[in-house]
Amino acid sequence: MTLLYRSTRGAKDNALTASQAILQGLSPDGGLYVPTEAPQLDLDLAQLPNLSYQDVAFKVLKAFLTDYTDDELRACVNAAYDDKFDDPQIAPVSHHGDDFYLELFHGSTIAFKDLALSILPHLMTTAAKKNNFNKEIVILTATSGDTGKAAMAGFADVEGTKIIVFYPNDGVSAIQKQQMITQVGENTYVVAINGNFDQAQTNVKEIFNDKAFMQQLADHDYQFSSANSINIGRLVPQVAYYFYAYGQLIKQGAIKNGDTINFSVPTGNFGDILAGYYSKQLGLPVNRLICASNQNNVLTDFFATGKYDRQRPFFTTTSPSMDILVSSNLERLIFHATGDNADQTAAYMHDLEANGSYQVTPEILSQLGATFSAGFASGDDDKQAIATVFDETKFAIDPHTAIAKAVADGYRQKTGDAHPMVIVSTASPYKFPNAVLTAIEDHNEDVDGLDAVQKLQGLINVPLPKAITTLFDAPVRHDMTVQPAEMPAAIAKILKID
Ligand SMILES: *Cc1c(COP(=O)(O)O)cnc(C)c1O
Repeated sequence: MTLLYRSTRGAKDNALTASQAILQGLSPDGGLYVPTEAPQLDLDLAQLPNLSYQDVAFKVLKAFLTDYTDDELRACVNAAYDDKFDDPQIAPVSHHGDDFYLELFHGSTIAFKDLALSILPHLMTTAAKKNNFNKEIVILTATSGDTGKAAMAGFADVEGTKIIVFYPNDGVSAIQKQQMITQVGENTYVVAINGNFDQAQTNVKEIFNDKAFMQQLADHDYQFSSANSINIGRLVPQVAYYFYAYGQLIKQGAIKNGDTINFSVPTGNFGDILAGYYSKQLGLPVNRLICASNQNNVLTDFFATGKYDRQRPFFTTTSPSMDILVSSNLERLIFHATGDNADQTAAYMHDLEANGSYQVTPEILSQLGATFSAGFASGDDDKQAIATVFDETKFAIDPHTAIAKAVADGYRQKTGDAHPMVIVSTASPYKFPNAVLTAIEDHNEDVDGLDAVQKLQGLINVPLPKAITTLFDAPVRHDMTVQPAEMPAAIAKILKID
């Protein structure tokens, strides 16, 4: 049986194969691709503790991407989850205090997006071959720092692709900037703009909508694509680490096969936690998924009231990857909660675009409440969680992980729920050294970049990841800076079509 994918806003008879959906990214009607039927996972949970991360990933991908052959999926998995990760387990689970931490920060950019972005390029180029698509894929991204870097690390030197990343010259941290300008790979292009992230993002969207420019590219055998988190090829690989975590808990003797567990997930665009929802649909014994937000708590309000309202102030916080007002992947959950009703989903999304909000029915809300709990933590709670975990266990957590920890603690206090709790740990403390230092000691924020990292290492005694040690000796490879309006010209120059 071939599992097909349809748009959350469109008719089922326009469904595509998995590889076509991965090439397409976003549906032309603005919707997101979702499976038309429940994927069938061929995996005995009792076997999980004996499987490698690569084995689990293969089985999960096989359930979703049924038009790929076993050999193709194995090749993608092996190319992605190799020694780019500094832990052979890829996503190890550690135990500190009362909690389990699913460590998703062992990849090239020491944050969780590596788990998906290390495999997406291989899924895409395989999809291109399967569909006799012979244009070169050009990934075009605007980034506020993290996603663009993780995408470049994934696409670097992948045959048949090029990647062009625009970042705001003054809008990224010292470490992020160093990561950008030293990016390796003959097919990677990094361009600073004299503007902010919104300008970069808006211009990228305009370029995608510029039909004449797209035709010009096609004439030169190029096709633009996007690596952002709405691509089903990013979502599916994330389901694997929920299963892998469960296997590790059995292996560590923390649970028996069949016991249910909770996950607390630091949430922004709702991709990570949605993968947790799919893992439950596939049969993983999940009790509750806890949706943890920072001060940008639009999702906490949504799960409490059924009203999604993006009309609210935007806060810049110490957990920047969660500073989001429109969580794109929530659309997939809404679609499933309506009983796969595309018209109703499209109407909600239209309300969101036209009026800035939508309200789901009480039935939908209570259905979501059967699996999801939600909460948020302020900047002070975040800092406190880093400090407390470090004082009590000597384990240093980053500010995103700390939001999940603070919200998990609040949830347990309120409910008394004593199921084993897995805190999904999305970044290494070395990625946000200033926030961590400020929480665990008297810290002067003028100490930045490598100095802050080294100071943190003196305190937490965790070896520096390769992603950091190589960073400050690496040669600068990218020095192009343009005005926002010159972005199309920069692309034309890079692709030699001007
Ligand atoms: C992207 C990101 C998140 C949020 O994940 P979503 O899938 O967008 O919900 C949380 N923490 C870190 C460190 C991230 O990079």
